[in-house]
Amino acid sequence: MITGIRHSIELKRRILVISPHEDHRRELEKILSSEYKVENVTGGREALRKLSGLSSYSLCILDLDLPDMKAEEFLYQHRHSETGSSRIPIIAIMDRYGHEAPIIRAGAADFIRTPFQAEVILARCERIIDLSVDKRLIRMAQDDPLTGLYNRNFFFEYVRQIEKNLENPHQDAVVINIEHFHLVNELYGREFGNQSLRLLADIIRSLKTRMDSIACRTDSDCFYIYCRRQTNYEALLEEMSRRLNASFREKRIRLRAGVYQDVNPADDPEEWFDRAKKACDRIRQDYTRHISYYDQKLHEKAVFEERLIHELHDALEEKRIQVYFQPKFDITGESPKLHSAEALVRWNHPEFGMIPPDRFIPLFEANGLILTLDRYVWEQAAAEARRWQDEFGVRLPVSVNVSHIDIYDETLDAEFDALIRKYDLTPDLLHLEITESAYAENSERLLSVVGKLREKGFRIEMDDFGSGYSSLNMLSVIPFDVLKLDREFIRNLVGNQKGLRMVKLILDISRDLEVRCVAEGVETDEEYKLLKEMGFDIIQGFYFSRPLTPGKFDQFLQQHRMPVPKGSP
Ligand code: C2E
Ligand code: CA
Ligand code: CA
Repeated sequence: MITGIRHSIELKRRILVISPHEDHRRELEKILSSEYKVENVTGGREALRKLSGLSSYSLCILDLDLPDMKAEEFLYQHRHSETGSSRIPIIAIMDRYGHEAPIIRAGAADFIRTPFQAEVILARCERIIDLSVDKRLIRMAQDDPLTGLYNRNFFFEYVRQIEKNLENPHQDAVVINIEHFHLVNELYGREFGNQSLRLLADIIRSLKTRMDSIACRTDSDCFYIYCRRQTNYEALLEEMSRRLNASFREKRIRLRAGVYQDVNPADDPEEWFDRAKKACDRIRQDYTRHISYYDQKLHEKAVFEERLIHELHDALEEKRIQVYFQPKFDITGESPKLHSAEALVRWNHPEFGMIPPDRFIPLFEANGLILTLDRYVWEQAAAEARRWQDEFGVRLPVSVNVSHIDIYDETLDAEFDALIRKYDLTPDLLHLEITESAYAENSERLLSVVGKLREKGFRIEMDDFGSGYSSLNMLSVIPFDVLKLDREFIRNLVGNQKGLRMVKLILDISRDLEVRCVAEGVETDEEYKLLKEMGFDIIQGFYFSRPLTPGKFDQFLQQHRMPVPKGSP
């Protein structure tokens, strides 16, 4: 299982030979040095010292007639060493018969005989090292059952071990993904998806010796490769992709790779692969690039994100996280009427200035901080809705964004209940915007959560519709009250016949389903007129107003004040 890397000069394992006999030491060194880095000592005490030191040995070969202690005593002390060296296996040299049993009982893993036979010795060393690398690791269940590559835990443990033995480390961390793997599964079926993963794993395995690498699959379509620095990753990826696709007739799969070159041994291997993954993720939507390298720009982004994570709580406390409100207009009547507002978060940072949500929402979604942030925003939004009623006599619904991460929160409906109770609002005043991709992701959980919220009277808006991969017929099975068409549709609408037909179709379907349709991102008069003519109900966009601070929104409200009758969505 590890032979692929043993041939590398850089990755040579160390063997310690303990023998008072010069001829034994010389002969063993001659036999072993093609495959291993061999070190010699003559006595037991020196050997124990070396074994418990910093160098890490893969194996010991022990002559039984030590000058300074009995072999059994040496084995006993080694086995009870507290430095962790006891897991280094020992092969004993036997020059006569009858001695084997007590020595093996004392802890030797195997034995070799004099006169030395090179082939036998090499085979035994290899086997014993394989067996011991490491029982501990093997216990961690080393394989990924689907592909037979290592699993994540074993991989990292192994990388750490190799790292310790490297003398000339110029190693790279590589992450490989299959482009749109979830779509591959959806279009061609799970079995085909699994088959692609197994094939890709086979290809990666076959490159093991050439790349001097070890590899694992962490989850889904994510493969990690730790390897000697390669000169041409483009060619390697191209080869993988060609071989993979050669096995399929009409289907085509694209690979994507992220590379972190020349890993820093001072950092943890998980960190190296996080970086390679960041590089890989950067080209997720970019069809022109297959490979991305971790570079200074990504590094700065990582440092920036690290700061945001650390500063979030203080920023909330210091009110640097601010909620803006963007009006939505009902355009079904003669003239547009203010209908509601969407709460949109911003971070007013003392050093970086105003940070838009796209720069921190995905980050906080990845680490769970979104739960805290969203609750803060919801509370601000509810408080404002209360104030609009008290100060301006306007019952204006406010919509808040609900991240797909929030959906997993068991107490979500109770939290919204508590919120409207606290601010004495009715549930129809709180609209919850949930992105379309959340529906596709975990539909069962979402269906039950959304169902419960709707029963309580909260209005559900399906946000960014058309941006993901959900199908139109999905619309008929999931519960929602308002469909918000993704901004991209609007951007490409004027003069685009295909786009227009598509939007008309979506409008027709929403009519059938009796849900209202919102167009967001409307910027121009031309767009507005077109959408009105097509029969859209509600419009949001710079055409009417950009998102406003609460103070500015107050002014806007006074100009457009129009009490909304109870119960309208
Ligand atoms: P979204 O929910 O689709 O929000 C609409 C985005 O479109 C807002 O960007 C808004 O400023 C922008 N927008 C509105 N009208 C126009 C227009 O006419 N033209 C253009 N080009 N853009 C327009 P923003 O505020 O940067 O928010 C970006 C995204 O961040 C939001 O997209 C939403 O997904 C997320 N987000 C914002 N606030 C929150 C929040 O409190 N919680 C969560 N979970 N996500 C949030
Ligand atoms: Ca939204
Ligand atoms: Ca949206």
